[in-house]
Parts: sequence; C-alpha cells; structure tokens
Amino acid sequence: MARLDGKVVMVTGGASGLGRSGATLMHAEGATVVITDVNTALGIETAASIGDKCFFIEQDVSQMADWERVIDQVVSRYGRLDVLVNNAGIVVVADVEKTTVEDWRKVHSVGTDGTFFGIQQAIGAMRKTGGGSIINMSSLAGMIGYPLIFAYSASKGAIRAMTKSAAVYCAQNSFDIRVNSIHPGTIATPMVAGFSADVEDQGEEKVKLKIGQPDDVGHMIVYLASDESKFISGSEFVIDSTASVTEGLVPG
Ligand code: NAD
Repeated sequence: MARLDGKVVMVTGGASGLGRSGATLMHAEGATVVITDVNTALGIETAASIGDKCFFIEQDVSQMADWERVIDQVVSRYGRLDVLVNNAGIVVVADVEKTTVEDWRKVHSVGTDGTFFGIQQAIGAMRKTGGGSIINMSSLAGMIGYPLIFAYSASKGAIRAMTKSAAVYCAQNSFDIRVNSIHPGTIATPMVAGFSADVEDQGEEKVKLKIGQPDDVGHMIVYLASDESKFISGSEFVIDSTASVTEGLVPG
C-alpha cells in the first residue's frame, strides 16, 4: 500500500516549482491530487503531465470567493479534503526603504491573505470528514533577516505564526487536523531564477548560495501529508542544508 492511498490532496500554486514537486510526489504515493493556480495554461499542462487522478482548478488564492468555490468543488467531486498545501506565493525584491505600499499589499494578498483563507476553509472542510493535514509554505525568510525581501519576509513570518495558532486551536478542539510549516532555503525554481536576476539588477554582490532542488521540499510535503507525521502539529521544518545555522557562507 502506498503512503497516501485514498487521500484527496490540494496544492495551491501547484503549476510550478515546489507545488509541482509536492503534487507529483504525492500522486506517486497514491493520492488524488488537485492543483490550483492563477496560471491556467501551465496548470492544465502540469496536471496532464502528472497523470490520471491529477486535476487542475483555476484559483486566485487572494480571493475568498475563489476559496469557497474551489473547496466546494473538491469536496463535491472527490468526496473529501485530507490535505491542503498552502504553497502559492510571490516575491517582490525590495528592502524596507524601497518597499512601496503597492508591493506590500501585493505580496501579502497572495501569501498572508491566501494562507489565512486556505487554513480557515480547509478546517471547515476537514472537520466534516474527520481530520486532515494543512501544510503551509513559509521560508527561511520568515525566520532570519533577508534585507532585500522585506514584504515577503513579513508575510512568511505571518505564515509561521498562523500555523502555530491554528495548530493549537485544532488540537484544543480535538479536530484531528494538523497544521505545520515548511521553511526552505534557496531552491531552484522559476521564482528564484527571477529573484536572482533582480538582486543582480540592484547591484548587490553576487553571493554563491547552496541551492536545493524542488524534490528536497516535495519529499517533506509527502511526509507531512501522510499519517507517518500524525503526532506532528504546530511544527516548523527548515530545509536548507545548514544555511541558517552557520555564520559563514556555505559553498554552492
Ligand atoms: P514558483 O513561482 O515556481 O511557483 C509559484 C506558483 O504560484 C506559480 O505557479 C504561480 O502562478 C502561482 N501563484 C502566484 N500567485 C498566485 C495566486 N494569487 N493564486 C494562485 N496561485 C498563484 O515559485 P516556487 O519557488 O515554487 O514557490 C512556491 C512557494 O515556496 C512560495 O510560497 C514561495 O514563497 C515558497 N518558497 C520558495 C523558495 C525557493 O527558494 N524557491 C524558498 C522558500 C519558500
């Protein structure tokens, strides 16, 4: 029996990068997978490439109405929701002095609002079918100081705190819903390709970073989605191969 047999899982921002990896690896472990994204063309292509029992639904996570519609569709089509990966996010490269109000709101509408809406809607759906696992994609930027991504860091810090608050709420109310956060360092995805170019544009010294692969995060998603992690809630998982625990740079 595969690790996620019989589970219905949903991954926001699943068309690309870390969401795509998590969706692919959960599918390989037997889950029925729903990926959602604002990028419809890529979402359809990704779902088709993953295979049978992988479906795409268009969703803008910053809109509560979209959440209500999508959760409703998932539950009515597939019968339940066992796992939600709140993965969709965007980054704006700007330090505290250069961050505009527009940048701030844009980053928070996807990362912070989207994760809040997702946690709230998933708890509502999972309570009806006996429980589940909510996995929130934070970042190292939600834990340590990254000067060039101010609004993004604030949003990732909020996701880290929302995770713990919701986890304790579910535990205290005996909902059997686990809520955890993942904190990747730098992982090779389209987001980071764009980010590196922006950092170079700002004339910063190019720092050679040790870079992980999407599946380094995808395997953690599978673990937190599975019942193997049934005693883990309110926890944070750093995936960075020492980047956050050394005072020196680690060669790439
Ligand atoms: P990515 O850009 O490859 O994928 C993000 C996906 O989210 C895209 O498919 C995009 O279309 C989608 N998206 C954007 N706005 C959306 C919205 N409003 N509604 C629904 N979907 C939306 O980036 P990635 O690197 O795979 O990032 C995935 C998550 O991992 C993000 O939350 C990111 O902040 C986080 N993260 C990434 C890294 C990294 O190094 N790549 C490190 C730490 C955290």
